[in-house]
Amino acid sequence: MSLAPYAVSEENSRGRRFSATISRDRNAFERDYSRILHSDAYRRLQGKTQVFSANTGDRFRTRASHSAEVEQVSRAVCRQLRLNETLAATLALGHDIGHAPFGHLGQDVLQELMADHGGFEHNHQALRLVDLLESPYFEHRGLNLMFETREGLLKHCTAERARQLGDVGQRHLDGSSPPLEVQAVDWSDAIAYCHADLEDAFVMKLLTVDDLLATPGYQEAWKRFSAPYPGLAHPTQCDFQSRDADALRKGKAIVRSVIRDMMTTAIDDLVMATRKRLELAQPQSLDEVRRHSPLVGFSDAGLAQHRALKAFSRENIYSHPFITSVRKQERVVLQDLFQAYVQAPDEMSGRGPEPGDSVHRAVADHISGMTDRYAQEEHARLLQARPELLASLQSGLQDAAPARSNKRRP
Ligand code: MG
Repeated sequence: MSLAPYAVSEENSRGRRFSATISRDRNAFERDYSRILHSDAYRRLQGKTQVFSANTGDRFRTRASHSAEVEQVSRAVCRQLRLNETLAATLALGHDIGHAPFGHLGQDVLQELMADHGGFEHNHQALRLVDLLESPYFEHRGLNLMFETREGLLKHCTAERARQLGDVGQRHLDGSSPPLEVQAVDWSDAIAYCHADLEDAFVMKLLTVDDLLATPGYQEAWKRFSAPYPGLAHPTQCDFQSRDADALRKGKAIVRSVIRDMMTTAIDDLVMATRKRLELAQPQSLDEVRRHSPLVGFSDAGLAQHRALKAFSRENIYSHPFITSVRKQERVVLQDLFQAYVQAPDEMSGRGPEPGDSVHRAVADHISGMTDRYAQEEHARLLQARPELLASLQSGLQDAAPARSNKRRP
């Protein structure tokens, strides 16, 4: 199927920063996909927290598996809207590569510690990674990605930073809209994590069957799922504690099917509501999309359902006592590591600041690239090898740490 006239293509793209040889077997966006897939930062997502951190088990999503799920949703949405599926897949794969270990906690802690040193923001870090820190090419720094891939990775940005970044930050200054592929990936991310977190939280026993039944949209999806099976009852909490393997399997399959139905319903709503907006707006080019208010989005009812689900997850999953207690320990690990490296940069296995950067920036780069496990191993190593670096920190920093905000999504 041909691309819509307003989709991003090689023809209307602003191209790469450095000229690159033309590939005969892959288009420019397929090459960007490969560049992200083969990056160190992408690979490390397998050891980074989505909601549950690596030290709490292995039955849940990591940042890498979450990114693959976002890719799948983004592809489905963009295919139906005749948008550039490969660009969307690349953005999905890369949308979280700037995340620090331990999920949003890592972002919050680095932001606090970097407050007087230029700040830390994972979307900006993603751009910094692909433009500077990832360096597999002899000819230049960075991955030399297409403009639209780079601007898509910079999802949020302060005005001050946007001014420093030039063209790629422009839309954050003039209020123009990003390409539809970028908008589609943002929504696909939200759809993917909202439903996956529900499933993971149930598997991790943070939510009971009664909690699931009280989840916005769950009862409606259960009715749709059970309609072809008259007399089928929803599994109870007892069924999940049963030793009957078949009952257990069926119970799990029902819960997963219902959540899958909720997700499919959300994707269908997004596609249909976006189609309607496109029919009304009739954009004829990518430039017209940029000048128009965002066109990808839910219907009013779909948006209300999505917001209710997010509010439910904030209250029942992200601020669950289990999650908050794990985060307290992880906060200490990150604070300790940051201060220890600032005092002794040589401990960062030879990594010094980039030209013009402060030691603090080098430390933020180093820590944000770590997996959960490596951050903990480094903390344990420094405790043993350089206790003087950590001993002086604990009391003062913990007193100074602001309360954890639950507002942000994972
Ligand atoms: Mg995400």
